[in-house]
Amino acid sequence: MNETINQSITVIKGIGGETAEILAEMNIRTVKDLLEYFPYRYEDYRLKDLEEVKHDERVTVCGQVHSEPALIYYGKKRSRLTLRVLVGRYLIQVVLFNQPYVKNKIAINETVTVTGKWDQHRQTITANEVHIGSQMKSTEFEPVYAVKGKLTVKGLRRFINLAFHQFGEYIEETLPNRFLIDYKLMNRVSALRMMHFPAGQQELKQARRRIVYEEFFYFQLKMQALRKIEREHSKGILQSYHLEKLNAFLESLPFTLTNAQKRVVNEILSDMKSPFRMNRLLQGDVGSGKTAVAAIALYASTTAGYQGALMVPTEILAEQHMDSLKNMLEPFELRCELLTSSVKGKRRKEILQLLKAGEIDILIGTHALIQDEVVFHNLGLVITDEQHRFGVEQRRVLREKGENPDVLFMTATPIPRTLSITVFGEMDVSIIDEMPAGRKIIETYWAKPDMLDRVLSFVEKELAAGHQAYVICPLIEESDKLDVQNAIDVHSTLTHYFNARYQVGLMNGRLTADEKEAVMKAFSLNEKQVLVSTTVVEVGVNVPNATMMVIYDAERFGLAQLHQLRGRVGRGSEQSYCILLADPKSEVGKERMKIMTDTNDGFILSEKDLELRGPGDFFGKKQSGLPEFKVADMVHDYRALETARNDAIQLVQLEEFWHSADYLSIRNYLKESGVLEGEKLD
Ligand code: ADP
Ligand code: MG
Repeated sequence: MNETINQSITVIKGIGGETAEILAEMNIRTVKDLLEYFPYRYEDYRLKDLEEVKHDERVTVCGQVHSEPALIYYGKKRSRLTLRVLVGRYLIQVVLFNQPYVKNKIAINETVTVTGKWDQHRQTITANEVHIGSQMKSTEFEPVYAVKGKLTVKGLRRFINLAFHQFGEYIEETLPNRFLIDYKLMNRVSALRMMHFPAGQQELKQARRRIVYEEFFYFQLKMQALRKIEREHSKGILQSYHLEKLNAFLESLPFTLTNAQKRVVNEILSDMKSPFRMNRLLQGDVGSGKTAVAAIALYASTTAGYQGALMVPTEILAEQHMDSLKNMLEPFELRCELLTSSVKGKRRKEILQLLKAGEIDILIGTHALIQDEVVFHNLGLVITDEQHRFGVEQRRVLREKGENPDVLFMTATPIPRTLSITVFGEMDVSIIDEMPAGRKIIETYWAKPDMLDRVLSFVEKELAAGHQAYVICPLIEESDKLDVQNAIDVHSTLTHYFNARYQVGLMNGRLTADEKEAVMKAFSLNEKQVLVSTTVVEVGVNVPNATMMVIYDAERFGLAQLHQLRGRVGRGSEQSYCILLADPKSEVGKERMKIMTDTNDGFILSEKDLELRGPGDFFGKKQSGLPEFKVADMVHDYRALETARNDAIQLVQLEEFWHSADYLSIRNYLKESGVLEGEKLD
């Protein structure tokens, strides 16, 4: 790291107390921060041919003044200057508001350059600026920065310019030379300069390319170094599972594993058998058979003499997992127990004691698992389902219940590759990309709200056939109260509509855990045929007799969430349906509905979702774990991301990387970002 550009920003001439404070608010504290404070866009002042410009687009043109400018005042300070300008073979009108003084500078036949918004119908440019002469600025691309308080863009630009004057020569290269050569990347100092003072479009593109690569490379390097250290320095458990017993267990399953399941089982088992700690993410669409994979891994761990734990986000889900795991595992004389906050008193005490004594083999539960009172005898494997619902901290606490147990994170939210290698870059990833044979595609339709009657008679037909239906209510962001009210309204409408022919249940986030359970139980026992619900049924719930799902205001949901919801049906052998009630106003909204009706593949959906929503919104507001890149964009620059990742993977494998002085600056960077501890360097 270079000491000089790491100095406080106040070493730059003209930056004193107040300015420094404003800059600090913009996270600019050192010279380096300032040099890396990039424009968020560039104003394009290249001259354009009017024929190529669309209505309402911003444009810069050059032409000759054709008639005497007309100036009109209205009010004290407001004015409008109108000129007619000959641009190529077009005679257009230029309007300039509130800059009356420009009139005196302009004469007929004078050449002017004008920048503003083009109104194609009126053949008029509403100008921001009118300059005399054939050039607007000294540059074709003018950077635009986000600024705060009293600081102006112009002022900021001046400081950046000064920073280059004072410190330009101290900006060091940070990428290994061979990358610069192999990828024809601009060196660092030129790239920084070009970002702030672009000479032209090509130069800007090259500068950006360099910065993007650098951002991805350093980020991935951090991830890969972490991953290597995790794998090689973590003292994990070598779990010698019993192969014959495991095979017997596999034979006992009512199905044979899909090839994808076999592959991921092998990946998981080989991690468990290694002396290093497993840190693996298992992705698989709803219904792809992750639970079976989890059961196999948990069973394997018990044959090696360890306990296993499965943590899920909701009680309902915990109970369902408990049921299916018990079914699979109890014939093998394993003891599975459930621990949630509803397990209380004597029962709880008993479970905790048995767990500590090692008499319970597998513990399934919610957050309850990470409380202090929960003590394992010898925890070997921890699995969390729907891991994105748990915070990093909760995951860590659970892991620390054992001595470096193997850890498997499962998620049914397919995560696009670009995101998964970024957010979970330090983990190993296994993907189940194949559905068990014979799965029926859930037929999905998009209906406008005015077709509700037809939709309901369709629902009734399914109910008449002995099936059940979910009705998902509109999601009202940030208003739990309205959510609940909506569900209550829909519930009463439907109760009225089905008029005692069918029973309608109601589920929402306000119910207590007991109430939720009662509603869910009634639905799964077919005492209620219709379940009106807010999105609380989203995860994991399994009622195979439900073949119909109606989603109100479907345009308010993201694709990933719609897909999760839809996954509640199609779990039995019957054909299932999903109806999206939606009247999206935007093109993106329409596109979403269309994608839902077109595909059942969660991975395709997740890629589309990422395209439509952008990485920031993908995981929703609460948890993202997304790194912030200054320039790079994970979606658009995914090729650079892949390249940088591969380079980082290779680099950390290089013996000399960890020892040679050539890589000292990179290692120092890793140290600074907390990845490397001092002693691990040698
Ligand atoms: P996920 O947890 O990924 O949503 P599950 O493990 O709950 O999926 O599996 C969904 C259903 O598919 C379950 O009823 C399960 O018994 C069944 N299943 C799992 N693997 C297979 C397979 N290889 N062949 C047939 N059915 C399977
Ligand atoms: Mg599951």
